[in-house]
Amino acid sequence: MENIIEETKNIIKKYGIRANKNLGQNFLIDEDTINTIVESAEIKKEDCVIEIGPGLGTLTKELVKKAGKVICIELDSKMVSILKDRFSEEVTLINQDILKVNLKELIEEQKKEKYTIKIVANLPYYITTPIVMKLLEERLDIESITIMIQKEVAERLACIPGEKETGAITYSVYYFAEVKKIKEVPNTSFIPEPEVTSEVIQLSIRKEPVVKVKNEKLLFQLIKMAFMQRRKTLQNALSHSTFFENKQQIKQILEKLQLDEKVRGEELTIEQFAKIANQITKQEGE
Ligand code: SAM
Repeated sequence: MENIIEETKNIIKKYGIRANKNLGQNFLIDEDTINTIVESAEIKKEDCVIEIGPGLGTLTKELVKKAGKVICIELDSKMVSILKDRFSEEVTLINQDILKVNLKELIEEQKKEKYTIKIVANLPYYITTPIVMKLLEERLDIESITIMIQKEVAERLACIPGEKETGAITYSVYYFAEVKKIKEVPNTSFIPEPEVTSEVIQLSIRKEPVVKVKNEKLLFQLIKMAFMQRRKTLQNALSHSTFFENKQQIKQILEKLQLDEKVRGEELTIEQFAKIANQITKQEGE
């Protein structure tokens, strides 16, 4: 591998690139981290890798060596023309905002060609959460998501609901996937250096969600409400929601599930939230 720092600097100079902060452009220049990402994604020729935000193509270069097919989704058209120059026919380029891409359709097309789909990315940090939630909530037929993101967000995604770093997103991610922490990456591994430390994590998509609920949307709405006012008891946090006619109704559900009336949302497991959601659905049907 040609010295990555030199190669990146040369590309930046050749194309007169100025990293666009608004697009979260921090280019990876650490060979070890690139190898770790590619190895932990366990890419094979049967795989179609979808890379989000390929930038100058540093990671892409290694992905094309291992995968049967690489599709890159990049918003910045300057980056897309560099990628065209560097990889021509080797990658399929989509010059679009990842949040607007019809991934379901794109993935179905690849499945017709019998590819297994893996997502690999050094994500733009300003939209990490919407990207991760899009990848999970759209129930895409993908095997794994190997991503580098900001360390604090990684901790939140990788913890088990109930642990210290738990947020509403912890439950959503846990519902759909098993998360593994892979490697912490210092800010010196990028040009330009971001202000934060990064971390590589891997999400393995579960065949079935971790709990059974009749109304998935309701489950996530409940969790979101509980965490919007996480210092309050669950009873108080949910008292203004339209799911319940009055506080007494919440109290009854908590009693039924043998939960203390002073319990806070962050103390609940996803199974307990699911039971509350199912109880509401049941009452609505009565
Ligand atoms: N993969 C490259 C690397 O590791 O050096 C660049 C990673 S950089 C952190 C994030 C990349 O995401 C940039 O190339 C940026 O232009 C691109 N990007 C930002 N917002 C995007 C969006 N909404 N959709 C697709 N790509 C986006």
